[in-house]
Amino acid sequence: MLKGKMVKNMQDYLIRVLTTNKEIRALAVRSTRLVEKARQAHNTTPVATAALGRALSASLLMGSMIKGGEEIGLIIEGDGPLGRIITEANQEGTVRGYVNNPQLPLLLNQEGKLDVAGAIGRGQLRVIKKKLLRESYESSVPLISGEIGDDLTYYYAQSEQTPSAVGLGVLVDRDHSVKAAGGFIIQLLPGAREETIEILEENLKDINSVSQLIEAGKKPEEILDLVLASFDYRIMERKEVEYICKCDRERIGVLLTSFPREELDDIIEKEGKVEVRCHFCNQIYEFTREDISKLDFGKGG
Ligand SMILES: [Zn+2]
Repeated sequence: MLKGKMVKNMQDYLIRVLTTNKEIRALAVRSTRLVEKARQAHNTTPVATAALGRALSASLLMGSMIKGGEEIGLIIEGDGPLGRIITEANQEGTVRGYVNNPQLPLLLNQEGKLDVAGAIGRGQLRVIKKKLLRESYESSVPLISGEIGDDLTYYYAQSEQTPSAVGLGVLVDRDHSVKAAGGFIIQLLPGAREETIEILEENLKDINSVSQLIEAGKKPEEILDLVLASFDYRIMERKEVEYICKCDRERIGVLLTSFPREELDDIIEKEGKVEVRCHFCNQIYEFTREDISKLDFGKGG
């Protein structure tokens, strides 16, 4: 028991490694604490926690393959009862996200596990790369499973022509708190030999579920030791990862100026103030008539 508690209290972190033969890039993350923080911020039910937690973990892994200062957005847009999942991460290791219907009642699949695929349904997976000083780049693929991991594997094959394996897992405790969360992305680099691919495929066959590994207290290094068994690798990066919402009053104010001034005045007239809730952290920002009058509405103001 003591051991379990110690693991639970440990800081979340991510590692990015390269095999010494330079044929495989691999990333793994432990995200237990940050998924629990997201659960508390959004008061999610277990199936929503699992879906959001997988997306948050995936975004952090994907965000570690982009340049500093850039951001990656993941939108999972299914027709299931969960609605949309939206997450954003950056190269620095911070992530935030939300789901449309955080209070979705318990949904189990035939194996008695949380039915993430059923909650998400059919639809699209969209990946948005926000480049520094350049236009955002967006690509999307249809959801092929709704379990998120397989969908991202498909995304990497289709949109980036990169053969990948993606494993994501969130384990929810009896009291609905997050017991374990994490994941990995393994990618073949150009020039990977057939032999390398075969060994990797064999290794991956032995890994049934990433949640089980995480539940067993495996660290990111230990997960990669299993996936990359019989390969030597070098750790290129190791960083702490966190759930942080970067919303602030100033940004929300700028956002408000994209609405017609008359509409805001109308709300002030009726409600006495304009209330804006941040979807990512549920913080509420209030703007009075005076606050609104100080905003710069540009030429329309
Ligand atoms: Zn926020």
